[in-house]
Amino acid sequence: PLESGAGVTANGDLFPQTTVPVLVPLPVDRPYSYAVPEGMAVEPGSIVQVPLGPRQVAGVVWEATGLNGDEVDSKKLRPITQLFDCPPIGADMRRFIDWVADYTLSPPGLVARMALRAPAAFDPEPWIEGLEATEARPERMTDARRRIFGAAEEALVWTKSGLAHAAGVTPSVVDGLMKLGAFRAVKFPPPPAVAEPDTSYGRAELSEEQSEVAGELAATGCQNEFSVTLLEGVTGSGKTEVYFEAVASALDAGKQVLILLPEIALTQSFLDRFHERFGAPPAEWHSDIAPRMREKIWRQVTEGRVRVVAGARSALFLPFKELGLVVVDEEHDPAYKQEDRTFYHARDMAVVRGRVGGFPVILASATPSVETRVNADLGRYRHLRLEARYAEASLPDLSLVDMRHAPPPRGRFVSPLLLTAIKETVARGEQALLFLNRRGYAPLTLCRVCGHRFQCASCSTWLVDHRLRGILQCHHCGFQTARPEACPECGTLDHLVACGPGVERIAEEMLTDLPHARTILLSSDLPGGARRLRRELEAIADGEADIVIGTQLVAKGHHFPMMTLVGAIDADLGLANGDPRAAERTFQLLHQVTGRAGRTGKASRGLIQTYQSEHPVMQAIASGDAETFYAREIAERERSQLPPFGRLAAIVVSANSKKEAEDYARQVRQAAPDDPDLEMLGPAEAPLAVLRGRHRFRLLVQGSRRAPLQSYLRATLNRAAAPRGSVQMQIDIDPQSF
Ligand code: ADP
Ligand code: ZN
Repeated sequence: PLESGAGVTANGDLFPQTTVPVLVPLPVDRPYSYAVPEGMAVEPGSIVQVPLGPRQVAGVVWEATGLNGDEVDSKKLRPITQLFDCPPIGADMRRFIDWVADYTLSPPGLVARMALRAPAAFDPEPWIEGLEATEARPERMTDARRRIFGAAEEALVWTKSGLAHAAGVTPSVVDGLMKLGAFRAVKFPPPPAVAEPDTSYGRAELSEEQSEVAGELAATGCQNEFSVTLLEGVTGSGKTEVYFEAVASALDAGKQVLILLPEIALTQSFLDRFHERFGAPPAEWHSDIAPRMREKIWRQVTEGRVRVVAGARSALFLPFKELGLVVVDEEHDPAYKQEDRTFYHARDMAVVRGRVGGFPVILASATPSVETRVNADLGRYRHLRLEARYAEASLPDLSLVDMRHAPPPRGRFVSPLLLTAIKETVARGEQALLFLNRRGYAPLTLCRVCGHRFQCASCSTWLVDHRLRGILQCHHCGFQTARPEACPECGTLDHLVACGPGVERIAEEMLTDLPHARTILLSSDLPGGARRLRRELEAIADGEADIVIGTQLVAKGHHFPMMTLVGAIDADLGLANGDPRAAERTFQLLHQVTGRAGRTGKASRGLIQTYQSEHPVMQAIASGDAETFYAREIAERERSQLPPFGRLAAIVVSANSKKEAEDYARQVRQAAPDDPDLEMLGPAEAPLAVLRGRHRFRLLVQGSRRAPLQSYLRATLNRAAAPRGSVQMQIDIDPQSF
């Protein structure tokens, strides 16, 4: 006998439960129980509205086992208010949410929130009022009526105004025909957010090497089985064209596909290429998408009507109906790490998503992360390679410019050797790219008279001179102030000096040395945002610039046909900060940025300005010997038991006062259990000791690969007193910089 409130699930099974756990998208650590009102048919995954305190919130019906521990008398439970008419969140997605919450030590409700980021889409999109032709024909056939019947043959359903417009008549003529029964009113679903991709639309002619790899990927793309493939190919080898074949085979098998891109605002060229290949663009998913479009895409992804999404890391949490392939392009990119609320790495979580969902994952890069390379070397991932650039393109000829032997004049940053190369390149009508990974004009401003240095009032950093905008700015908290003329300390006028270069300063140098060259400065902080960047990238590809100066933005995946020279200013910049990943990052960045040159048949070069020409990174870049570099880097990680050979987590404690932060961090340290496989180090001041006025201390937890990191952290947090006052704590599993 069914108890009251029992229901029937969408596929007809009885769901004889009067109470169900519901996970609400708030920082809650478990689902709460609710009563199912009589006649309501919910199932795990259903999206419902429930009362929470004085509010109504949307939530997801969760599994009845395990997580819901509140043993409340079912008579006292509050009932579910509403069941939304929305496809339920699939079982694999629910397991994924639980897994991510468990792994990152994040409240499951916060992870679920990432999957529910379009509340207005829980109700179906309204259907469109339209009409369709019947068999009936009017006795009197006028010219206008004939035109309507002619136009109507082009489609099955029409809106009234659409049909009238197509036939070139007024809507009243259509009204007349409806009265005569030649058309009847129907409702039809709203049009898709994006057109359906056509897998046979623009299949590229692949080179022999490309088709071999594409064939293997296509065979993978349609499999109903978890696997990870590293697609490693030199810059310009055509990785995108090749993994498109896996996308096509997944689509042909009826699956949905997700392509993750590190910086979607810069990926217009990706969208264009997808369009050329599949006859329609993919749906985009990132923070810049207008809310109405987001809702439409979210809804249609859950319905399976949107087949391909290209998105930023957050797209991983879209509740796809039948996801069957994830591609992570530029898998090494640091932008995949989210360091806010739930700390997660989208590449790693994409692999988990594939495992939970039982489908293939493809990681593509010219410079894979050390983690991925190790997984490939150990045979956990399949490793496919593209060794040659596509068509006549060849890799640039790379050399180091030792700045100790050939320094630029005082106050200049471009060496004479590089300057000559730029002049020759511009004279030939080709393009030069100058890369410096530092925004603004100068990283430090000081007073020549008293030595005063401009520091951020709320962070332990120097203010960066952004001369084009006339401000000094903190790159950590965003604080900005007008650039003064007098020193605030000693009052002397006009004796403030800029120390060190930023991209604006290099642009100024080029203006002095090559006043007639057309220069474009690419930096994310300049006004105009993503739209301006897109325009400028197009202008560069169209040859409308002679010299391009840019930050790491220019290193990413662009195809600039006219570019034949790349100069890296201050190539050592990232090596100094003591981060164990510094060498890997610098190698990736320099390899990627030099890879922007030589994309067509012309000879090209790269000049790397360095003060550490003997450093293994510089040697690897100059010789093009990535294998030796990876081998060395991997051995180094293994020796020091760093990821992926060991496990690592960071706990950052922050508070309004240094004492509060340090005291609490010590308490956490003392609460750590004894474990033979894990060790807690610290607390020490975090690398950014003060951020937004908050003092920061850090603990590191390090252990062997098999060590139970999460349960160790949970035990620690259970034993430590909860943070009080202004104290806050963040946990970062697999921190990227440490
Ligand atoms: P990667 O991602 O490996 O750096 P891309 O996929 O961006 O390389 O390819 C580099 C350039 O070569 C792009 O402009 C691409 O359109 C072109 N290309 C690569 N393979 C082909 C092909 N088979 N047919 C036509 N163009 C290709
Ligand atoms: Zn600041």
